[in-house]
Amino acid sequence: PLAVAGVETARLEAFRTREAERFVAARPRCRTALAAGAAPWLDGVPMHWMRDWPSPFPLVVARAKGATLTDLDGNRLDDFCLGDTGSMFGHSPAPVARAMRRQATRGLTCMLPSEAALRVGALLRDRFGPFLWQVTLSASDANRHALRAARAVTGRRKTLVFNGCYHGALEEAMVELRDGRTAARRGLVGQGFDLTEGAVCVEFNDLAPVEAALSTGDVAAILTEPVMTNCCMVLPEPGFLEGLRRLADAHGALLIIDETHTQSSGPGGYARPHGLEADMLVIGKCVAGGVPTALWGMTEAVAARFRAYDAARPPGHSGMGTTLAGNPVQFACLEATLAEVATEEAFALMEAGAARLAEGLSRAIVAAVLPWHVVRVGARVEFICAPGPLRNGSEAAAAHRPAVEAAVHLGLLNRGCLIAPFHNMMLVSPATGRARVDRLIRAFGDVLDDLTSPRH
Ligand code: PMP
Repeated sequence: PLAVAGVETARLEAFRTREAERFVAARPRCRTALAAGAAPWLDGVPMHWMRDWPSPFPLVVARAKGATLTDLDGNRLDDFCLGDTGSMFGHSPAPVARAMRRQATRGLTCMLPSEAALRVGALLRDRFGPFLWQVTLSASDANRHALRAARAVTGRRKTLVFNGCYHGALEEAMVELRDGRTAARRGLVGQGFDLTEGAVCVEFNDLAPVEAALSTGDVAAILTEPVMTNCCMVLPEPGFLEGLRRLADAHGALLIIDETHTQSSGPGGYARPHGLEADMLVIGKCVAGGVPTALWGMTEAVAARFRAYDAARPPGHSGMGTTLAGNPVQFACLEATLAEVATEEAFALMEAGAARLAEGLSRAIVAAVLPWHVVRVGARVEFICAPGPLRNGSEAAAAHRPAVEAAVHLGLLNRGCLIAPFHNMMLVSPATGRARVDRLIRAFGDVLDDLTSPRH
């Protein structure tokens, strides 16, 4: 094609080449360090997706503090990726660093509760609702355990998920809709059994296929984010989430709400302020200020059923665990985050900055006359290289323009702004501030101008 998402391909290619050269020229130390130390890692990186950033090679990070990330060459970047939500409250928030230091000499892991653990349950409850909680090291594990419990109490085996979803590295959600049927995701590594036996996949924002799937009677739970955030962002249409609640009740399935990303909405996440009552709630990533921690909670009603189930099963080998989960560092950092970092005031700053950012990006898109749009969920902003709003995962997949997105990402990076890879997502932390937001708006405008203006 001569143009992708409104950008001429020839100009796009020239831009990418120029920006790649600029990135490399500014990072001799990163490059040397990678050349010296990367070989023992598979593909030269300790996590495979570190290769998937749109830059010629990954940044090597020297330091990350607040909303600034500094690479080995001393390039300072305004960080709007923030670990794809893990550092949504800024890197190393002072209260979390203090809590970590305090705990550092008092034991790092012991399979027993600390006093902080006993205090923090009440904080979780005040904020997210009257759930009975368990802790894990990752949101993947929290979802995995929640689904196990849902199957246990319902005696059913299937999970209903939405096309285009992501809930972490758990098998149950690794399906997609293909030709109208549930299928294992293409690109899965080493899948050894048939995922469609445990999962059913339908489109978001459409209650009819949800009802059809639930009426088979073998769905234990609907697992969903209240807003889809892992394809291009898809907002729930009015009545959709309420419809899920109603259908789950009507068909004896549980509703599990995964708020790992939508914690960007505010102190209590998205569901509770929107009046959506979950049977189980999952939170993770940023909840302990960046220290690996997630939680899953069940209502008292589900807990009563779970206790009855638990009393009747053989002891041991629950399938829910991992040794390092529930360690005292997690609780120290969880308490510091909930009590001192993720405050109403912090969220007010995040919300205001993100609103400003969304408006600025929208203006730049209009100025460049591109058929793109911007979506925001609290502190979470995304530009999408296609018209909107998007209704579901299929529309979101069709809106994805990897070549254009990679060029914009790299262009922004060279202008001092780091945004999340894999999606065009930007988070505004309490440490970000107006100057950084305005810098990103200017950089975005500059990149779009470069990509579209006849002057270049
Ligand atoms: N749930 C959602 C909605 C997510 O976006 C993610 C990760 N992107 C996860 C769960 C899994 O989180 P983790 O990688 O920390 O296990």
